[in-house]
Amino acid sequence: MCVIALMKLCRCGKVIERKMKYCMKCLLVIEQQRKERHKYYDKTRQDDKYWKFYKTKEWIKLRAYVLAYYDQLDLYEYYVNNRIVEANTSHHIIEIKDNWRLRLEFSNQFPCSESTHNRIHKLYEKDKKGIQKLLLSILEKYKEEYKS
Ligand SMILES: [Zn+2]
Ligand SMILES: [Zn+2]
Repeated sequence: MCVIALMKLCRCGKVIERKMKYCMKCLLVIEQQRKERHKYYDKTRQDDKYWKFYKTKEWIKLRAYVLAYYDQLDLYEYYVNNRIVEANTSHHIIEIKDNWRLRLEFSNQFPCSESTHNRIHKLYEKDKKGIQKLLLSILEKYKEEYKS
């Protein structure tokens, strides 16, 4: 049999064996694209899970409790900038995407304002561990000064 009969063209124009679907180069590209699609799909599903969590009764109740317990005070502004700013949300010190089990843990909650919350997440991008330590030490300080 003529050897050329055992060959065919890949989508890129390269000659490949008939039993192969693509050349190695195209195969890698296709595999990469498949992975990207999957990653996007997984991320969307995750985001959906978090989005739903922030609407649950349990979360809304816990957030209200956190705000009441810390006297509606943005503790970051209070200790870092010496300012009295009203807290209206609660930040997960260990984020729910890092530990889903701590989502309703009281000791993982940090009361703050919207703008502080944004700042904390920006700071996390630079030094997550360091900022987490700082937030935990602030909670400790507040409890020592006002809750004991
Ligand atoms: Zn190819
Ligand atoms: Zn947060």
